[in-house]
Amino acid sequence: MEILEFEDDNAIRIDNLEDNLPHLPPRVPKRGRPKGKDKTVIGVPKKRKLTSKLLPFEELPVDIRHYEMLRWFVDDGIAKSAVYENKSVHEEYVEIVPERVSNVIMDKAIAIDEIKCYLTEESWLVIQQVIKMKKLTPTWICPICAKDAATKSICCNRCLEWSHFICVRVNANFKSKLWFCNFCKVSNTNLKNTT
Ligand SMILES: [Zn+2]
Ligand SMILES: [Zn+2]
Repeated sequence: MEILEFEDDNAIRIDNLEDNLPHLPPRVPKRGRPKGKDKTVIGVPKKRKLTSKLLPFEELPVDIRHYEMLRWFVDDGIAKSAVYENKSVHEEYVEIVPERVSNVIMDKAIAIDEIKCYLTEESWLVIQQVIKMKKLTPTWICPICAKDAATKSICCNRCLEWSHFICVRVNANFKSKLWFCNFCKVSNTNLKNTT
């Protein structure tokens, strides 16, 4: 039995009312895929709808932030299955060469403890070890010129990498709460276009 819903939420039987109702045009199905479906028309899981606004690292949704933090130490797939499938990261997957780990882990704003829950006890120890080694010879490498960016540089609020003012064509007196490097701007635009 079909039920008609009226604005006041009273459901009325259609068969009793049919003759009294004004003649309405047939419902035309809307085009395009319905909103809120988690799969695309070809059945592929849809990508998360990312906010078009470029967010500073600490304001990222917590799962994305944790995924990105894990990516500093393990590869893509391992980081993904840790965050989204609850699979603990075993020590053999953790990068132990400090040079291959992002300098970002030395950033004071990073609360590395946040990812502890995804790691086995051993891999947590490995990660702490790597951070310790990195801090012994702290070097910030400018992503543009690949030289030491310890001075005259600016930090991107999204990827937390330091770039020389000159390399990113930013005035040394630049004053703004947030600054995003071109890499982050471009990847954010690409994400926007694929969703
Ligand atoms: Zn540079
Ligand atoms: Zn950046």
